[in-house]
Amino acid sequence: MNQPETKNYRLRDTIIIGAGLTGLTIAYYLTRKGCDVEVIEQQSRTGGQICTYHESGFTFESGPNTGIISHPEVAELLEALSPICRLETAREASKQRLIWKGNRFHPLPSGLFNAITTPLFSTKDKLNILCEPFRSRGNNPDETIGELVQRRLGTSYLHYAVDPFISGVYAGDPMRLVTRHALPKLYQLEQTYGSFIRGGIAKSFSPRNQRDRLATRKVFSTHGGLSNLTGALEQAIGNKRFSLGATSTSLIPCERGWLVCFTDANGKVDQIRCRKVITTIPAYALPPLLPFIPTEQMNRISNLTYAPVMQVCVGLRNTYGKEFPAFGGLVPSCEQKSVLGILFPSACFSNRSPKDGALYSYFLGGTRHPELLTKSNDEITTLIGTTMHEMLNYPVGIVPDLIRIFRHEKAIPQYESSSADRFTTINELQKQYPGLVLAGNLKGGIGMADRIKQAVEIAREK
Ligand SMILES: Cc1cc2nc3c(=O)[nH]c(=O)nc-3n(C[C@H](O)[C@H](O)[C@H](O)COP(=O)(O)OP(=O)(O)OC[C@H]3O[C@@H](n4cnc5c(N)ncnc54)[C@H](O)[C@@H]3O)c2cc1C
Repeated sequence: MNQPETKNYRLRDTIIIGAGLTGLTIAYYLTRKGCDVEVIEQQSRTGGQICTYHESGFTFESGPNTGIISHPEVAELLEALSPICRLETAREASKQRLIWKGNRFHPLPSGLFNAITTPLFSTKDKLNILCEPFRSRGNNPDETIGELVQRRLGTSYLHYAVDPFISGVYAGDPMRLVTRHALPKLYQLEQTYGSFIRGGIAKSFSPRNQRDRLATRKVFSTHGGLSNLTGALEQAIGNKRFSLGATSTSLIPCERGWLVCFTDANGKVDQIRCRKVITTIPAYALPPLLPFIPTEQMNRISNLTYAPVMQVCVGLRNTYGKEFPAFGGLVPSCEQKSVLGILFPSACFSNRSPKDGALYSYFLGGTRHPELLTKSNDEITTLIGTTMHEMLNYPVGIVPDLIRIFRHEKAIPQYESSSADRFTTINELQKQYPGLVLAGNLKGGIGMADRIKQAVEIAREK
């Protein structure tokens, strides 16, 4: 183990690297337990991928728009942060999801009658689904989501339900994402009950305690946008516990802990000795932070692919009565449109657009169309105008009152077949280097709810 060469260091108990939702939630719970924490962040702001903008009467997000209350930890965090930050659940009407087929959007069926009458699925697959409870259980642990759905439900379900869902969540390809890593609950449903339908029925009857019932699966944001959530966490943690604008951060293992070295926002070298370091930064950012880890071992973590995503926020002051009372519309890849999907944030939440207006969020790119991110703003503006007409039936040549383009070169991690190796390596390193915790979206799920759950579990370990 190395010894710090100089005594010129500060002392802290725990250092958290990265002030996105994961890092902030860990810091929040540790601070509440009285732990001496500091968060080191390279940007001059907290929030990471979460960033809300307010402009000309529109409130829009450059990153995530909504989360799902899929774990009790989400409800508990939002309850703990109220009233500084107020939970907003999506309007009832916006439960409806739309799927593009042919030349228009169709409702994604939610009940049995709609499932039989919808034009989204083939007649053969509609009949086929009756046999789903009797199909044999899969035995390939590395089966992809696409393979699993094709085997149990049929090709039309893959194309018109699961493919657009995976575009919406992962901006990825269901034929590359491994089910047990990317959708572990779906994998467990088949493994435990032998069938999605039998599993779904059994789960709906299984008793849930009071805490489990907090996981309502409702779609959420916070009043005024998601930056109010990360802002409330920052406020509760206290600004003395942040080093923002930190560059060249690296860790040195030393006796009974760690030395964290970085250059602060004023260009001065800062060093902190601590007992524990928790990283929450993306996999590709880890190599310079952990230079003592052999390249071959580090590659097994940092080779994680992140899907590129472009989000285009489009605001209209007046829709002239046009309404889309739905969560949004998703586009199956076989339909070969330029967009992955369109969200309708002003249909879900209050005050996202001026009265009589609307806010739309377009998603483009993903693992299948990374080239779209290289298009110029003018080209994207033209493409959005065409799509407003073709997909949302606005008049030709409509000029939005607001159009903001956000390019995320590395947005969403893809839990592909390399994932098992990555998780094993993370466990090995954490054993090899006591006091090092490798967290963030490289494991444990990619959505905001997963991030909160992981953070709570880490803070519980202390
Ligand atoms: C376009 C887009 C849409 C999304 N949509 C949804 C959605 O609808 N629903 C949903 O649930 N989730 C969505 N997500 C995912 C969601 O945003 C993430 O799950 C969550 O915000 C990740 O939080 P995090 O703290 O783990 O990571 P991040 O937010 O990436 O935070 C990591 C932080 O580490 C910092 N950092 C990196 N390197 C260093 C370094 N060397 N030193 C110090 N700091 C460093 C970064 O600046 C960043 O602030 C979306 C993501 C994107 C990009």
